[in-house]
Amino acid sequence: MKPNIGVDFDDVLVDSAKSILETLGLFFNETYSLSSLKTYNIADNLWIDKNIVNDAIDIMLTNEEFLLIRDAKEIIKWLSEFYNIHIITARPREYLSYVETILKRNNIDEYITAITLTNNKLDVYRYLNVETIIEDRDIYIDDAYHDGIVSLVYDRPWNQDIKNTALTQRVYNWSDIKDYFMIKLGE
Ligand SMILES: [Mg+2]
Repeated sequence: MKPNIGVDFDDVLVDSAKSILETLGLFFNETYSLSSLKTYNIADNLWIDKNIVNDAIDIMLTNEEFLLIRDAKEIIKWLSEFYNIHIITARPREYLSYVETILKRNNIDEYITAITLTNNKLDVYRYLNVETIIEDRDIYIDDAYHDGIVSLVYDRPWNQDIKNTALTQRVYNWSDIKDYFMIKLGE
């Protein structure tokens, strides 16, 4: 049986923060750069009302041009030969159909074993006995670390405090993710 890996959705598979900032920029006629986000919370970082940020998220999720991050599709396809790919996201359950639609639109759904929306990722990591996660948020990476699970840390301005260790390796793009697994699999 193939081992399981957990792949986060926002800012790992899709450029969510970038898209949300672009929409907020249109709302306020401003330019917001990704590097200005020192923590994950856009509303707090930019002093913007949470409801307006939520509007920008809705626009992102329903935008038909919203695509996966470069190379993600090809590399997920390749990885699915060796692993069961689980999308594990902290988005609320009502977002499931949006996530499904985005994966379908990008022709990636057939390579995904399951999508799990959860407010407790660690429980899902344990239940699935995931071998590796691909994540950008420190709280989930910390949880995985304490359970001995390897994290590929998707490089983002809000996760710069995470150091490379035996269980955490920073990746800058999907090509780095492929390189990691090629070495691991001895390909
Ligand atoms: Mg994320």
